[in-house]
Amino acid sequence: MERVKIVLKSGKEQSLLRLHPWVFSGAIKKMYGNPAEGDLVDVYDNKDTFLATGHYAPSSISVRVLSFEQINPDISFFREKIKKAISYRKAIGITDNPIINVFRLIHGEGDGLPGLIVDYYNGVAVMQMHSLGFYRIRKEIASILSELLKDSIIAVYDKSEGTIPHMSGVSATNEFLFGNSGPATVTENGYKFKIDWTTGQKTGFFIDQRNNRKLLQNYSDGRSVLNMFGYTGGFSVYAMKNAALVHTVDSSFSAIELANENINLNFGDDPRHKSFQVDAFDYLNNINEKYDLIILDPPAFAKHNNVLANALQGYKRLNIKAIEQIKPGGIIFTFSCSQVVSKENFRKSVFAAAANTGRSVRILHQMSQPPDHPVNIYHPESEYLKGLVIYVE
Ligand code: SAH
Repeated sequence: MERVKIVLKSGKEQSLLRLHPWVFSGAIKKMYGNPAEGDLVDVYDNKDTFLATGHYAPSSISVRVLSFEQINPDISFFREKIKKAISYRKAIGITDNPIINVFRLIHGEGDGLPGLIVDYYNGVAVMQMHSLGFYRIRKEIASILSELLKDSIIAVYDKSEGTIPHMSGVSATNEFLFGNSGPATVTENGYKFKIDWTTGQKTGFFIDQRNNRKLLQNYSDGRSVLNMFGYTGGFSVYAMKNAALVHTVDSSFSAIELANENINLNFGDDPRHKSFQVDAFDYLNNINEKYDLIILDPPAFAKHNNVLANALQGYKRLNIKAIEQIKPGGIIFTFSCSQVVSKENFRKSVFAAAANTGRSVRILHQMSQPPDHPVNIYHPESEYLKGLVIYVE
């Protein structure tokens, strides 16, 4: 099929020349044809020089680039990209690892596959398509995964119901595209977690916090730990190794249930752990004990640039509460996973929070995402997870 040609306004080719994989709608001068959402399109500069091929969407990101070469991104193209994503994870020691069998297998732009996320849970691959282009070839992607991972895969589950764009009008059903499996128990740094991708948030687990959870363990020894926005209790489980007590807070009932179950899986019925189903701000406002270590890992406060200012205020308010509440000599692990909030902006919010309390605050560590969530150097937006460990005098 002939691909629709898209020509950019003069000067708007610069970001593609720097290999940034998005074309914004405002950069488009003319489209020769009427592409449907998810179609492959070719992008040219104003002087008719080919720039890139990618998936089209009638939204602010109009093209997600698959290749800067004039090729046909057919199934063998995707097979090669997925093969490379797998070899990369072998090379960094994340596959065939005796203490880790939960990792991100494909990280969208970070793996040159914008719009495609695949997480691996001890034999089950869970896919989330963020573009119709990938949704249309979901069955092919599932069969490539089952073929390339043959000895280490039992099922591929497509969970794109909530992630393919609403505007497309396509309604997805979450389903197994290869094999079948009930909830899995995975191992992360030797700890066990139960993962239910059908009912859980995102693909079922926040794999991106693996290294930061490990870092937390270094600081939890003997401390009283408050894990805000605990979800499956990831940070709580690591803290339980050596903390005096661990409290998990989440507003979601099912999250609290999962956190309790995961604590139980690793430590049995241990009275050091308690969980509270309550809004984070309510909890911090009505706190009746002081903690030595607080984790703040809220959901993305900003999904779009137009709400950035509100999001930064949100991070500031939350961090003020924690810095005010923590015991002298306490430590806070504070995060932002909003893609539109830059590292600098997040740091400024925490700075503003600290200044507001007047307490002396030092930065011990600056955290990010682990290497199975690689950052495409040409796409700074793929570095979405930011965190600071701070010491409050
Ligand atoms: N720290 C977790 C991931 C957190 S995801 C981990 O390591 O796995 C964000 C969590 O915040 C979700 O579980 C969600 O239910 C919870 N949440 C969202 N809004 C909240 C609020 N206002 N108060 C408390 N929890 C909230």
